[in-house]
Amino acid sequence: MTDFKQLELIEPILRAVAAEHYTTPTQIQARAIPVVLEGRDVLGCAQTGTGKTAAFLLPMLQRLTASPSSKKRSIRGLVLTPTRELAAQIGESCASYSQFLDLRHLVIFGGVKQNPQVRELRRGIDVLIATPGRLLDLYRQGFISFEAISFFVLDEADRMLDMGFLPDIKRVLALLPQKCQNLLFSATMPANIVNLANGFLTNPVRI
Ligand code: AMP
Repeated sequence: MTDFKQLELIEPILRAVAAEHYTTPTQIQARAIPVVLEGRDVLGCAQTGTGKTAAFLLPMLQRLTASPSSKKRSIRGLVLTPTRELAAQIGESCASYSQFLDLRHLVIFGGVKQNPQVRELRRGIDVLIATPGRLLDLYRQGFISFEAISFFVLDEADRMLDMGFLPDIKRVLALLPQKCQNLLFSATMPANIVNLANGFLTNPVRI
């Protein structure tokens, strides 16, 4: 059986995982973490409850820590998720997993005032967790830059398409820099998800 120490995670992340009382990586974590740390794209078939959030956040946080931003903090990791509830949950996990790291994250979603979100963006953010509508809205107003993004996660892709977010997803994909590491997670893999994945994942590892 694998344990977290065998996954080549750095000490501050192992400490955060221990603080969460995780002892053994879940199946998706054991398979995804090593390949994401190598820099590979991933096409992951996984439902909520499988530990997929840590499967993408832990190696993302490690990779962002390994290549700190040169000057002011800029958005280097972007997680796109369909609902505010999911965004908030991922934000809570990110807070726990990054508690011993020098990384700032922010959760943004619609239906609430944008001013507090804009204030936080101005202070500088390393990891942004967002729903598509508010992300594009703040981008169009000039509050968000995609230039420094090096790590992108499309979470719950099937649910995104069910909710009619395909046009927004395509807009976001068009804004991402060329040399971005991309991950897609979906509970189901119908043809439209595979097509979407083929459009932006490079030689992905399928999990
Ligand atoms: P997720 O599928 O990412 O929504 O995670 C489902 C739940 O499992 C969350 O409450 C996590 O805190 C928890 N969890 C994730 N990874 C592990 C692990 N390796 N050991 C125990 N619990 C975990």
